[in-house]
Amino acid sequence: MTPPSRLALVPFVSVQNMMGLVRHIGLAQVLRDLAAAIEADFLRWEEFDKTPRVASHSDVGVIELMPTADKAHYGFKYVNGHPKNMKEGLQTVTAFGLLADVATGYPILLTEMTMLTALRTAAMSALAASHLAPKGARTMAVIGNGAQSEFQCLAFQAVCGIDTVRLYDIDPTATAKCAANLAGTGLRVVSCTSPEQAIEGAQIVTTVTADKRNQTILTDNMVGAGVHINAVGGDCPGKTELHRDILMRSEIFVEYPPQTRVEGEIQQLDPDHPVTELWRVMAGTAPGRTDAAQVTLFDSVGFAIEDFSVLRYVHARIKGTRFYDDLDMLADPDDPRDLYGMLQRAG
Ligand code: NAD
Repeated sequence: MTPPSRLALVPFVSVQNMMGLVRHIGLAQVLRDLAAAIEADFLRWEEFDKTPRVASHSDVGVIELMPTADKAHYGFKYVNGHPKNMKEGLQTVTAFGLLADVATGYPILLTEMTMLTALRTAAMSALAASHLAPKGARTMAVIGNGAQSEFQCLAFQAVCGIDTVRLYDIDPTATAKCAANLAGTGLRVVSCTSPEQAIEGAQIVTTVTADKRNQTILTDNMVGAGVHINAVGGDCPGKTELHRDILMRSEIFVEYPPQTRVEGEIQQLDPDHPVTELWRVMAGTAPGRTDAAQVTLFDSVGFAIEDFSVLRYVHARIKGTRFYDDLDMLADPDDPRDLYGMLQRAG
């Protein structure tokens, strides 16, 4: 049998290799690089094919496909969200993704994206806060101390200069895990026993809990003037974290309105409630925070362009490294029309 040509081999980044790549570059640098990559793509927002992600809901969770493309590349991510998984020893969120060449339709990268989703979600949150949080913010409350939480803390440290995190989770073992993981990172870590204690003195509040229902992690009286809220955990129909009254007095910023109106905190609002697309703030065509007393809210749900940006980043960064394997996943007959002959010869 003739071996497949180079073009037919697709680089595959396993979880092991993703961790190797991140440690090789350095986590803080990766988070800064991803924020920069996402911002560069948000600045060319109109060049992308955009569609809300395709979601398949069940009683216990959701499985989603997130595609987008520009003129050169096509990308998609497969991702799930199953809050009950954690109690069974499984991840709430797992993912993998693919990048393809638009010119040939050939895949050029297949990669794990569980680790990469945590990195990109954190980088996106920090990027949004760099445009919206009050100037000089140094303290962030993090409510929900599960798989995403350390990445959020470290992205805000690397991108926004946060030096103190105040942690709270209904499960104290989650807070203890997060605090232990953040030891030695340079962050001052304060473990709290209530959400009220966690938000004391915090200029930024991140909510990153998982529960498949409308929760009230924050009520209106808990949110002081000038705070920036980074609401990450509410990302599905019927799965929100904030009381509606908070939304009514916040300036709300979103990724892609047709998706966020269905999945985000704003599913609680009228469909024409005004929101600002973040890319417009980055491009300077819409205002971000306009005064120090304003409550700003990034209603994060995760959009396909963010995954596209990080897929391209990984594709570029694995070149010349040992952090991938070649996968023989495309048939490659010598004569493109003789696929059947290839099968016969294999016998
Ligand atoms: P996880 O299951 O590992 O952790 C969730 C944590 O939330 C758990 O420790 C749990 O005890 C805690 N929690 C639940 N209810 C709480 C409450 N009322 N108060 C305080 N803590 C509470 O989940 P994860 O992987 O860290 O993901 C967290 C959330 O972020 C999920 O809902 C997930 O769907 C969402 N998410 C969003 C994006 C995005 O782009 N917006 C990306 C990835 C994940």
